[in-house]
Amino acid sequence: MTDYNEIFENNKRWVATKTATDEKFFEKLALEQKPDYLYIGCSDSRVPTNEIMGLDAGEVFVHRNIANLVNNVDLNVMSVINYAVRHLQVKHIIVCGHYNCGGVKAAMESADLGLLNPWLRNIRDVYRLHKEELNAIEDEHAQYNRLVELNVQEQCVNVIKTAAVQQSYLADHYPTVHGWVYDIHNGELIDLKIDFEKILHEIQEIYDLTGTGRLMKKKGSK
Ligand SMILES: [Zn+2]
Repeated sequence: MTDYNEIFENNKRWVATKTATDEKFFEKLALEQKPDYLYIGCSDSRVPTNEIMGLDAGEVFVHRNIANLVNNVDLNVMSVINYAVRHLQVKHIIVCGHYNCGGVKAAMESADLGLLNPWLRNIRDVYRLHKEELNAIEDEHAQYNRLVELNVQEQCVNVIKTAAVQQSYLADHYPTVHGWVYDIHNGELIDLKIDFEKILHEIQEIYDLTGTGRLMKKKGSK
């Protein structure tokens, strides 16, 4: 374990490394942030956001919570999405889950987890939506991995349900939403290649918040 005081020594070394390659690194960063990416991931300490993406300070706006959930009554994640889209004008929103997610695992267990119950309930809802597919998977580990992926997919849908994303996409054609899984066993990032435009089109019937009734009209339709 890293000693508490060592962290400040580490910090000094980090500052020195940064300024050695670019004297004005912090000066420039202090002026403004203009990240192209919003990353919504799990709080798990084994998933170091900037490192796995190879991005530096200032390049990614980050929100993390247990099991990377996008809950529409969570003021925290909703504020982050709103700010990232409307003010920072990010071009990509990424929901990133990871295999071996303790939150997803806990949600699959038959146990009263107290305060975590309402939070993890969101994952049980994902299970309910995809019950047939998940129940058909015999291997427990494979089933759990698939739930991690489906949870990412459903949270992407939740991002697309927001007014900020719908309105911005209609006006400017960004941001696009991506679903990723980080493989904790080998450090690899896997793009689940969710079909953003298809989801946007499918959810418009019920979730259109653009006020125009034309979020994603099919080509040729009036
Ligand atoms: Zn996790």
